[in-house]
Amino acid sequence: MNQFLSGKYPVPAFWKFGGAEQLRAHINKTFDRFLLPAALATTQCNYHQLIAELHSEQLSGLRYSKEKGGTGAGLAAQAMFAESLGQIPSGSIGMALTIHLDMVAPFIDQYGSPEQIERFLMPALRGDILLSHAVSEPGAGSDVTNLATTATRDGAGWRISGHKTMISLASLADVHFVIARLADYRAPFNMVNFLIPKDTPGLRLGDVWPALGNAQCPITDVFFDDLWIGDDCRLGMPGMGMINQLQQFAQERVLSSLRANQVTYQCLARAAQWTSKLDKQLQILIAEWQASRALTYKAMQCWLANGEYLSLSSSSKFISSRLARRASLFTLDLARQHSSDDIKNLQTCVGDARLFSISTGSDEMMLKSIASAEKY
Ligand SMILES: Cc1cc2nc3c(=O)[nH]c(=O)nc-3n(C[C@H](O)[C@H](O)[C@H](O)COP(=O)(O)OP(=O)(O)OC[C@H]3O[C@@H](n4cnc5c(N)ncnc54)[C@H](O)[C@@H]3O)c2cc1C
Repeated sequence: MNQFLSGKYPVPAFWKFGGAEQLRAHINKTFDRFLLPAALATTQCNYHQLIAELHSEQLSGLRYSKEKGGTGAGLAAQAMFAESLGQIPSGSIGMALTIHLDMVAPFIDQYGSPEQIERFLMPALRGDILLSHAVSEPGAGSDVTNLATTATRDGAGWRISGHKTMISLASLADVHFVIARLADYRAPFNMVNFLIPKDTPGLRLGDVWPALGNAQCPITDVFFDDLWIGDDCRLGMPGMGMINQLQQFAQERVLSSLRANQVTYQCLARAAQWTSKLDKQLQILIAEWQASRALTYKAMQCWLANGEYLSLSSSSKFISSRLARRASLFTLDLARQHSSDDIKNLQTCVGDARLFSISTGSDEMMLKSIASAEKY
């Protein structure tokens, strides 16, 4: 238990690069200065400003090269940033920064043309534009292969028709990443991605949905009413949209697991301070946290070594997400028993932690993905 509270666990090999400790200290200091006040405020978070502040501290583009507006610190440094996001008592900020910096921006980095890097990625890293990730549809949530939004060639561009649902940040974003189906292509090579600026004629937003968690990361529907967009806003090869998306989901699952494990740690560290004797349930949760953390680090290590990590990323997300939910509930129960003044924060934490299991697919989809990767 004492070792748990001290937080002194062996550091994985990928965080033993030169300057790693200084980077960790810099991230912590910057998060305390900018993200913590935003997390504790009751007003809508200004994400443009937060990203600009992170940019001024060289933290908004760790994984991106200097030529593309990043710092060139690399993926392991980005993983450290992602894990540290779990220290912030706001799932909204963690989710928003993950969507912007680790879901859409990597897509532009990997598949964007030089013009798209300059038009979308560089301003995104500076906080000049905010990005949303519009994939889910009323008939395609967990199973993204079912999506019905269509893209059809029309002159020098594309006609897009469809409806995306529950899109985080859509009401605040300047540019929406969108995936659409191509009529004359065969699955799985039948999708295409776009970056659609918010003021494109034919783009319409629904009302903000009521939130049970991540209240500062509002969700909205996005409608495309026979919208026309130039080919310069197509991202990646036509036909490769779903393949590229599934690869990107695997990456995001690892980074989201790092954050979920840190949320679990924060909860259990609080719980440990309230128990005078060794609570058996707490001991079990700590052991599960150690196992979850080891699994996530293994997934990260495989990703960094260009190894196979599809199954590891899904199992890591499955386990870390469920654990964050259970750990936050357990800690909330303890807080209630001790009439702690932390109850309200922990209620928020429980609501936010539930959403780890939703992004990039439900628990059942994780199990399906593991089974198919392991050929069960
Ligand atoms: C707060 C929030 C933010 C979101 N942000 C975004 C965003 O930014 N971008 C985006 O594209 N989407 C976003 N979504 C949508 C999210 O990705 C979907 O809600 C999620 O993928 C689940 O899809 P669904 O809601 O259609 O539920 P479904 O997939 O229909 O699932 C409904 C129920 O069935 C279960 N289930 C699913 N598949 C199976 C199966 N094969 N076997 C057994 N049971 C199954 C699920 O666990 C769930 O309990 C967000 C959702 C929420 C709630």
